[in-house]
Amino acid sequence: MNDCIFCKIVKKEIPKELHFEDENIVAFDDINPQSEVHVLFIPKKHFDSLDLLSDGDDMILSSVRKGIKKVVEEKGLNGKGYKVLVYAGGAQTIDHLHFHLRGPLGLKV
Ligand code: 5GP
Ligand code: ZN
Repeated sequence: MNDCIFCKIVKKEIPKELHFEDENIVAFDDINPQSEVHVLFIPKKHFDSLDLLSDGDDMILSSVRKGIKKVVEEKGLNGKGYKVLVYAGGAQTIDHLHFHLRGPLGLKV
């Protein structure tokens, strides 16, 4: 956890342009974007995996919702399609919980 790269971003030891920040989370571009918009939302507190959140951590999820709404609006993704992804339970490559926002995707017709 001490050498966690995302904890270093939270502590601003690694500077990033932040798309969103509040008391619970920060959001910044993925270093290796898989789509035109690829933003990561991470809690300021380190969690290895989504399932390790407790009821008392639900404000983190509320912050993620607010952050996604802001970035979706700023990037004009509404009407263009986007997805939110979490790899967890050992499928993640970085053991600091993060939500991927990716788009545009195109729309189902
Ligand atoms: P996952 O754990 O969900 O499979 O993927 C980790 C994600 O973090 C990848 O999309 C990868 O490109 C991204 N990533 C890895 N290292 C860094 C970094 O140092 N900075 C940023 N901004 N993203 C990173
Ligand atoms: Zn961490």
